[in-house]
Amino acid sequence: MNVTDLGVLLKSVDVGDEMYRVIRELYPLCRSITGNGVRETLRIIKKQIPLQIHEIPTGTQVFDWTVPREWNISDAYVKDSRGDRVIDFQTCNLHVVNYSVPIKRRMSLAELRPHLFTLPDHPDWIPYRTSYYQENWGFCLTHKKLMEMKDGEYEVCIDSSLEPGFLTYGEYVLPGQSSDEVLLSCHICHPSLCNDNLSGIALLSILAKYLGQISLRYSYRFLFIPSTIGSIAWLSLNEHQLWKIKHGLVIAGAGDPGKLTYKKTRRGDAEIDKTLLHILKNSGQDFRVLAFYPYGYDERQFCSPGFNLPVGCLSRTPHGGYPEYHTSADNLDFVRPQYLADTLLQSVGVISVLENNKTYVNQNPKGEPQLGRRGLYRGYPHGGVDDLALLWVLNMSDGSHALLDIAERAGIAFADVRKAAEALMESNLLKPIPD
Ligand code: ZN
Repeated sequence: MNVTDLGVLLKSVDVGDEMYRVIRELYPLCRSITGNGVRETLRIIKKQIPLQIHEIPTGTQVFDWTVPREWNISDAYVKDSRGDRVIDFQTCNLHVVNYSVPIKRRMSLAELRPHLFTLPDHPDWIPYRTSYYQENWGFCLTHKKLMEMKDGEYEVCIDSSLEPGFLTYGEYVLPGQSSDEVLLSCHICHPSLCNDNLSGIALLSILAKYLGQISLRYSYRFLFIPSTIGSIAWLSLNEHQLWKIKHGLVIAGAGDPGKLTYKKTRRGDAEIDKTLLHILKNSGQDFRVLAFYPYGYDERQFCSPGFNLPVGCLSRTPHGGYPEYHTSADNLDFVRPQYLADTLLQSVGVISVLENNKTYVNQNPKGEPQLGRRGLYRGYPHGGVDDLALLWVLNMSDGSHALLDIAERAGIAFADVRKAAEALMESNLLKPIPD
């Protein structure tokens, strides 16, 4: 099976439901940039693909950063004077500011108040907050609940630990014919949020599982890493082999109802940029293309000037572009199997272009070859090959235009140009330039 057949296969299975099941299993875990929530997440991904798990010790210097102490949490609450948990980590892990230092003491509401975070505009939603590199503690709650809290004494407990440990991440390399690599990366550090992080994890793990069943031209490297420190640590440990990366994508926010969005690489004209533009233009859907900017997901590390890797970012609504972003409303109802499946299928389309975007040389460049004699003109016996695509491929295949250039120049979908090239190869009218 090749990648084109894979696209057809995935359309026929409930791949959206398969991705959604991964999200549902990972949703309850309290993840962070380090700790057991990340380990448990990687253990679950390992059910889909034979992931390699890396542990980088606290204190390891990675470029300008230091791997922080590991954070773990078992319980947290705020109890009122009657002993009732008015805020309870056990009901939702977003209730605790991620990376909160441990605390256990009684205090007044006035004393507690600066440590409480709400969303007054969405009084039923719990915000998601972190304090990774600043020692602090806090609770997030609905604004409605805060309004109900009366003056008086509260018992405040965060049973967390911040101790020397490890930064944990997962990596899976799928070898192809070439050692040239496609890098695909997602975040694994958010707790119970579905679109932001879990949809990317679901997409990459299911994509990796299916790509593992076909023969590939490129090697594929899948990274499941905590944001910022994870990609910086990975870049630091793999600096010697970054030259292998020919194309890359960060996948994030893959399951919301918004239109697909592609954020270009810092280079702006890399093959991955041209590929995404072509796929989105031919998707039959509305879409959005953004120029590179140094914010967002880990593309900002991969595209830092010292690396300038050809890594773009594919999402649906961009980060921060929907009200549910970083709140408890980014839940199991917010992501839908149909959108997850669509983002996956478009990603497979991208891989199909990368895999097949080769450069050919016309073996009969002096005048047009006589196609009719070869059964290639008007009613090609194998069907499905566009006459105009045949002529474009023959004309442009002078060794300096790859199939994607031809598709763009001709205004024909890549799949049709690829079919034309295959038919011309069969008739010995075209020869590929070796990789
Ligand atoms: Zn986020």
